[in-house]
Amino acid sequence: LIACDAPAHAQALNLAGVERVLIAKPPVDHFEAHVSQRALEAAIDTLRPAVVLAGHTIDSLDFIPAVAARGRHGLAGDVTGLRFGAEGLVAHRESHGGKLLAEIDFPGKDTVIVLLRVGAYERASGAGAASTEALEVDLQDCARTEHVEFRDAPAGDVDIEKADFLLSIGRGVQDAENIPRFEELADRLGAILSCSRPVVDAGWLPSARQVGQSGRTVSPKVYLAMGISGAVQHIAGMSRSGTVIAVNSDPDAPIFSAAHYGAVADMLEIGEALEQQLRRPRS
Ligand code: FAD
Repeated sequence: LIACDAPAHAQALNLAGVERVLIAKPPVDHFEAHVSQRALEAAIDTLRPAVVLAGHTIDSLDFIPAVAARGRHGLAGDVTGLRFGAEGLVAHRESHGGKLLAEIDFPGKDTVIVLLRVGAYERASGAGAASTEALEVDLQDCARTEHVEFRDAPAGDVDIEKADFLLSIGRGVQDAENIPRFEELADRLGAILSCSRPVVDAGWLPSARQVGQSGRTVSPKVYLAMGISGAVQHIAGMSRSGTVIAVNSDPDAPIFSAAHYGAVADMLEIGEALEQQLRRPRS
């Protein structure tokens, strides 16, 4: 734990399975890659761990590869699964834009650093009985960058991660002109509108609405996917949904493998039928 106010955070790491929380006090109160690098190098030198796990995050990418390169450790990024085989630790990750699954082993490496994709594993829970110890390392003179200011990303209008019901639209929506129809449909259904990446790339919806590997990870009770093919990068963000319903005009679309219910149909026609149904007065 590398933080100025480490004791305040130590308790959050004291979860079942954690034996020791090591604390290093940085000279600056913001994330600084060189500080984290030196602290992790010191921890590895002291403890000689077989495996170091870190999140595949922007901050990790800023210093972990340097630790691995300098220490000549094994390294794998964006890992979605791990197993121990006869060959030792094996990491799973996608390759070739998600079309292949690669298995990576680390022959001859005493220490392997693995960056796990966020959301690949369940969040740890349960109180632990970890001790808290100071890590022996001097971090005083290693900060080399100065934090100037934080700039907020444009505020997302909704938090799709908290929604119980998501109506998610993909490139099958075809045109920017069709977006308001689905916004209204989501509203009438009591759902929040989310989308796949091409819809954001086209500028039709803000990035806060994007589900997937480079967007948000969602776990609504109901995920209604319309006109979404089901690329692995999209599935990565919604595979924890309760009930998945897919509407796609292509019967071979991969989204149907992730869906509990599916309709091979035109999403615009289904949208129209739902609108009519919702307009009909209840008897
Ligand atoms: P398409 O793949 O083009 O699919 C459109 C679907 O709509 C097709 O299945 C088609 O049959 C169907 N369709 C067309 N017309 C209709 C109609 N009238 N009615 C019904 N169905 C219709 N993608 C994400 O979504 N989220 C991410 O976070 C993400 N991150 C990525 C990160 C990386 C590093 C990379 C390489 C890619 C990422 N992608 C992400 C992109 C991803 O690979 C796919 O390209 C993307 O998910 C495809 O979006 P789509 O399903 O909307 O479009």
